[in-house]
Amino acid sequence: MAQHPTLRDVFAARKRISDGILKTPLVRSKRLSGVAGADVYLKLENRQETGSFKLRGATNILRSLTAVERETGVVAVSSGNHGRAVAHVGAAEGIEATVCISTRVPQVKVAAMQALGATVVVAGPTQDDADAAARQLVDDGLVFVHPFDDSRVIAGQGTIGLELLDDLPEVGTVVVPLSGGGLMAGIAVAIKSADRDIRIIGVSQDRGPAMYDSIRAGRLTDVIEEDTLADALAGGLGPENHHSFAMCSELIDEILLVSENEIAAAMAHLHSNEGETVEGGGAVGVAAVLAGKVAAPGPIAVVVSGGNVDPAVLAGAVEEQR
Ligand SMILES: *Cc1c(COP(=O)(O)O)cnc(C)c1O
Repeated sequence: MAQHPTLRDVFAARKRISDGILKTPLVRSKRLSGVAGADVYLKLENRQETGSFKLRGATNILRSLTAVERETGVVAVSSGNHGRAVAHVGAAEGIEATVCISTRVPQVKVAAMQALGATVVVAGPTQDDADAAARQLVDDGLVFVHPFDDSRVIAGQGTIGLELLDDLPEVGTVVVPLSGGGLMAGIAVAIKSADRDIRIIGVSQDRGPAMYDSIRAGRLTDVIEEDTLADALAGGLGPENHHSFAMCSELIDEILLVSENEIAAAMAHLHSNEGETVEGGGAVGVAAVLAGKVAAPGPIAVVVSGGNVDPAVLAGAVEEQR
């Protein structure tokens, strides 16, 4: 069994990536603090370069490759943000990047990857189709860059946990969007290493919550992919998992699910009241707070994980809430 990443790996990642990423702001939300009855702070990874936290893990893994691997080039499977991050780092580091996606990936994300010079392969309607296309390219020799189940990726995402501890050392609860669990595993290992009593809450969409179902079942389960506003959270954990499932099973205190309406309300709230452009997957933590589902020790830090949303989708969510 491969070793899971530790706090030491997260510090090493911070050192490796710090000049390639933004240290994102942590801002107090007056409205959400009122709703939760405790101070609520937003960690604004929607303002991260490339529009999501995925840049952290992608930078850490690409900067960890050997000279031969850099020369060969990389392939990623992505629901959009990971691919964009890999394309960005690839362009910056002179590493050729190919991204395999399903037809579910929004056009705004496809265009961004192509603009960065990545080769985009649209494989079919499901994440499994994208996986199969990528496997073929790995067989042909490319280096696979996993979106969540890789120690280097998890350690990179974990740098958010270090920033939270820097800016809010008294934090009582951390709320994290949850899909494959790379973001969660990295943040949770950093936070729980500092203090096991800090509560860690994951939030997923109720349409196909892969990690929630798998943790409840005690094993990896298949999900049925459905359309959701939280497109960045769609998809399963895959047939095999080395790190994120075990780490999330051990480190998460609670997983909350949110509905499409709750996600839309959170996107509208973030847009209208906080002045932030946030995609559905990035807004699920705020959705859980707004819905009164987060009752835990404060201060509460909510990770807002990404901002890459089709303007028409955001406008639709805002319109719906009027
Ligand atoms: C990828 C992604 C997530 C989920 O990250 P995992 O590591 O797969 O759990 C959450 N929000 C956004 C915006 C993402 O792009």
